[in-house]
Amino acid sequence: MADQHDDGTAVTIPGSRGFVPPPILLQRSPPSYGETSTSRQVANLDGHVQSEDQGVRPKSSLLPVAGLSSEEGYKSQLSSSAFDEFIIEGYEHVTYETTLIKPPPPEPISGDGDSSSRRGNAAVPNIDDLTARDAVLSYVSQNRCWGLACAREMTIMDITASSAFHYNLETCTEKRTAVWIHEPYTGQVIDSADRGPSPKPWDVLVVPPNPYREGQIVVEVPHSARVVNCYDCSTMGRRRCWSCFGNGEIQCNACNGTGKILEQESGGASEAQRANAPVIPKACYQCGGGGKRRCVVCLGPGQLPCKTCLARGQLKLSLQLTVSWRLYKSDRIVERTAVPELLIRSVQGRVAFDEEKAAVWPINFFPDEAVNHASRELLDEHRARLSSEKTIAQRQSVRMVPVHQVAYVWRNYRGFFYIYGYDNLVHFPDYPQKACCGLSELLSCSIQ
Ligand SMILES: [Zn+2]
Ligand SMILES: [Zn+2]
Ligand SMILES: [Zn+2]
Repeated sequence: MADQHDDGTAVTIPGSRGFVPPPILLQRSPPSYGETSTSRQVANLDGHVQSEDQGVRPKSSLLPVAGLSSEEGYKSQLSSSAFDEFIIEGYEHVTYETTLIKPPPPEPISGDGDSSSRRGNAAVPNIDDLTARDAVLSYVSQNRCWGLACAREMTIMDITASSAFHYNLETCTEKRTAVWIHEPYTGQVIDSADRGPSPKPWDVLVVPPNPYREGQIVVEVPHSARVVNCYDCSTMGRRRCWSCFGNGEIQCNACNGTGKILEQESGGASEAQRANAPVIPKACYQCGGGGKRRCVVCLGPGQLPCKTCLARGQLKLSLQLTVSWRLYKSDRIVERTAVPELLIRSVQGRVAFDEEKAAVWPINFFPDEAVNHASRELLDEHRARLSSEKTIAQRQSVRMVPVHQVAYVWRNYRGFFYIYGYDNLVHFPDYPQKACCGLSELLSCSIQ
């Protein structure tokens, strides 16, 4: 539903009927949070104070779901000075719906992006003809039905060494949201403003339990709690029964409230006589002739305990801060031969460069400009996507995978195959002897 306020602000609070929107939002109107002339005294009776770092997690954060509040009545009883008590610096825009707290502007990246210490090690190992032939023989022999003759007899013409790079970027972010919540006040400890001002949203100390892992922690903003009168029952603890509207009785549905029912007289031997017997009014059996029955919802008193405050008449109101951590990963393969990216990604490589800081500079020193470009582009992408979150840690790495392109000749065939990774794995997309006996390679064949 949407509530219209004095200043024309409409606030939607799902699931709440007659719920008064947050006073915090309404700078020019008084808090409509059920404060009466006596409630200010209550709000100041925060005699019980908990220690500063005891962040109590509220047991209940439910919005009221039923009941009719006399919000206009509350508003009229409030003074504007009462509203001042609800303003907490840094949380002025927080409502009863989860509100994003904008992150502080990013701090400048420490260090120097051009530092000479930021150099990668990207040396490529050499392999000779013998190693290349061993690798291709081992590869071909693992493929059933492939002829070994080609691998044995081929002439290796040339071996060109190169490197494939696997760039990885991980950004760990923190997001903060706040919401005003309430729960029944049952005498629990109240960490109120008497203890001092509340820290601003990004100053509340919450440490991520696991760096580079996703997670969430919910805390009560220190010194934000207070006790207020229940807006739903005006401190009565009871509300009018929704079934009998406070009467304790409802109309009897057997006689529709008349107290009488019509009944046909019994008697007569034949069926025709019984059918024509006179119909006479009698006192209703259900209500004894009164036309009313006791309400089955409240069982008589016409009132029900208030669910919002659990019949206590008062609520604990506090700011709840949710801190969540997310991990964003991106990667890119820089590879110029015909070896598929999937193979480069899955094979073991060596770390050519590794860096971890609160925020990293783009890589700008790699001999292969494509790596520098990938680093710049993915860092920009993360920055743009994560504008509502604060980057708290970042790491980037470059993994190097050696790739050797081998040119060969065998009979009428001429082509290339590839040896990649430190275990000399082979990628040979057009091996000329895939069916050694002239049959399909799918058929079983033991002829070599
Ligand atoms: Zn109540
Ligand atoms: Zn009746
Ligand atoms: Zn009732």
